[in-house]
Amino acid sequence: MTKRVFQSIFLCAAVTLILTAVFTTLFQYRTARENLQTQIEEEATYISEAFDTVESGARASLFDRIGKISQNRITWISENGEVLYDNRADADNMDNHLSRPEVSEAASDGAGESERDSATRKTETLYYALRLSDGSLLRIAAESASLWGVLASTYSPLLLIAAVVLLLAGFIAFVLTRAIVRPFNTLDLKHPLENKTYDELSPLLRRLDKQNQESHEQVRLLTARQEEFDLITSGMQEGLVIFSKDGTVLSANAAARAILSGETGGSYLQLCREKHYLSVVESALAGKAKTKKMKQGGRVYTLTATPVQNSLAGNAAVLFIVDITDSELSEKMRREFSANVSHELKTPLTSILGYAEIIGNGLAEESDIPKFADRIHKEAARLLTLIEDIIKLSQLDEDELRAEFVPVKLSELCQSVLQELSQKAEKAGVTLHFSGDEQTVSGFEPSLYEMIYNLCDNAIAYNKPGGRVNVSLEKTPENKIRLSVRDTGIGIAEEHLGRVFERFYRVDKSHSKETGGTGLGLSIVKHAALMHDAELSIESTPQVGTTVQILFKPLKTN
Ligand code: ADP
Repeated sequence: MTKRVFQSIFLCAAVTLILTAVFTTLFQYRTARENLQTQIEEEATYISEAFDTVESGARASLFDRIGKISQNRITWISENGEVLYDNRADADNMDNHLSRPEVSEAASDGAGESERDSATRKTETLYYALRLSDGSLLRIAAESASLWGVLASTYSPLLLIAAVVLLLAGFIAFVLTRAIVRPFNTLDLKHPLENKTYDELSPLLRRLDKQNQESHEQVRLLTARQEEFDLITSGMQEGLVIFSKDGTVLSANAAARAILSGETGGSYLQLCREKHYLSVVESALAGKAKTKKMKQGGRVYTLTATPVQNSLAGNAAVLFIVDITDSELSEKMRREFSANVSHELKTPLTSILGYAEIIGNGLAEESDIPKFADRIHKEAARLLTLIEDIIKLSQLDEDELRAEFVPVKLSELCQSVLQELSQKAEKAGVTLHFSGDEQTVSGFEPSLYEMIYNLCDNAIAYNKPGGRVNVSLEKTPENKIRLSVRDTGIGIAEEHLGRVFERFYRVDKSHSKETGGTGLGLSIVKHAALMHDAELSIESTPQVGTTVQILFKPLKTN
């Protein structure tokens, strides 16, 4: 714009300068010519007047005197065209002048004029002829520069002046251009209406202000949407990654960054190098959805990459990562549990079938029949206990039980368990003790009873004759409620401690069977503790004893 404004101003000044120079020259030329014309006419008139005042014999000397002082060419011509006198040439050698236009005009009309150019000398000559009183003719000629002559004579100073003026015009154009353009360059486009500038710009600035407001609104909406999106995705446990069509990571939420642990903002290759990840992302970028499992950092994830079809941008892709470690684990445990249950049920059933078959076939001695019937009874009872335990366990998996939570007095529960187990303890030569105040927790009473029962039952079953079982209840400094069941029994070796809460895990299978154990007791305890949000821990020293602790959260009071 600056260049165009400068060019316009400069061109305007240059054209003005040239036109002014041309017209001034023309005007000067015309004025000078008119003055010269008037001058020779006046001179002719004066000479004519003087001619009349002298006698005819003195007229030749009059012309001679005037001719010497006049700056113009003076020619006296007789009535028949013969040149009588000329102050610039020898009259005798001059031809007849009657054919000259101005002379012939003066001879007929009294006065005549004409002009003749000399192209080579760039001059023109003005002629004026007057008929004198005696019929002779006076002609005065004055030479002046022709228009081209005038132009040629003023050419070099004019060029010099033009150069200076053009330089000046250039400078003024430069200053003016800057002054004109400055308000444009200093426009505050963020606040268009606050500009103090040309009135002509007002409509533009108003439109700009409207556009600014519209784009601010759009940016605000987009930012709000982006923030909303970030907020939603950052809170997600699932990983979410969005790729552009060239595989650049456009967005990756916190979960995805933690799982894939690479760099975001660059190519998908920088985010992770795991082969299943690469396979699904590359497939989606090629336009085909794909799902695969990936093991990373000890956990299992499903990766689902889907292409996002966009006719303009090509195939972008979205990757969804779900942590399936827990479901994989529970699926594995479910399979193991089914296998264990089948096995555990099969063993007593096989015994029952065997004894029943022997009795049925009459192969058993009469005296053995009560013994076999007792074995059948024992195995059937074991089977029943097992089925009951399985049912209890499956019930503990149901979340609905939480809805039935009520305040439960734990000390009462402990004492009734000990009461129930007193005969068993007596048989085993074990003494039972309880200590602690009344403590109340929120829970499902049958499950809490089952927990305490199983712990105390184990403490008796895996004890030694003359041993002790101490059940205690107390409040911790953190206001939690601690239930401890301590025995002085056979204890558990270090390597088994971590596994005793698993379903059907027994340290010593034969001992457990002897005591009528199913291998599900501690598993029930673990699930019941989970259901009550309680922390479960076990400590044991072989041949010294075992302590199991359950830490309940304090009862909420409204
Ligand atoms: P079981 O029905 O066999 O008792 P549990 O799930 O109750 O099954 O216990 C799992 C195993 O842990 C038992 O078989 C036993 O070997 C061991 N165990 C549990 N409690 C004690 C304890 N108080 N002292 C020693 N060993 C124990």
